[in-house]
Order: sequence, then C-alpha cells, then structure tokens
Amino acid sequence: MDMALILLGRSTCRICGKTLNEGEDVVAFPSGLFPDSGDKKWVLNDAGAHRACLLSQPWGEQAIQLLEGFLGPAGLCVGDVD
Ligand SMILES: [Zn+2]
Repeated sequence: MDMALILLGRSTCRICGKTLNEGEDVVAFPSGLFPDSGDKKWVLNDAGAHRACLLSQPWGEQAIQLLEGFLGPAGLCVGDVD
C-alpha cells in the first residue's frame, strides 16, 4: 500500500506545524487522495496531521472520511503499531 511516509518525531503536522510525535493521535494520508490543488485538503497529500488538528478544521472530518473510504478504518492508525 502506498502510505504516506511519516517519521514520528521528524515529520510535522500540516495544520499546526508542530512535530508529530510517537504516542500522539496522528493521521497519515497517502499521496493523491486529494487531487484538487484548490482544495484545502490538498496539503494533506502524502502528509500527516494530528487528529485533533484535523477535527479543528471545518473540512477535517471530511478528510478523515475520505481516508477511511480509501483505507478502511484499520488503516487509519499509525501511532500504536505493536
Ligand atoms: Zn497538529
């Protein structure tokens, strides 16, 4: 699967600009999920964001729903992989 390359502790949230750290609720988006560059969600292509930051945006829930449709709910979590 062509997942976004998110390096916890290195990559930054596309919304708040802070580092995405291990243990935080991080949502990773694959490239090409939002093909319209005029869409606010376009910044999430091949990137990650905190779930709370996403949900603070009016378009955040829609972005998560699109991702769920793409991956299925089990594909959402990158934070706690055993
Ligand atoms: Zn954030």
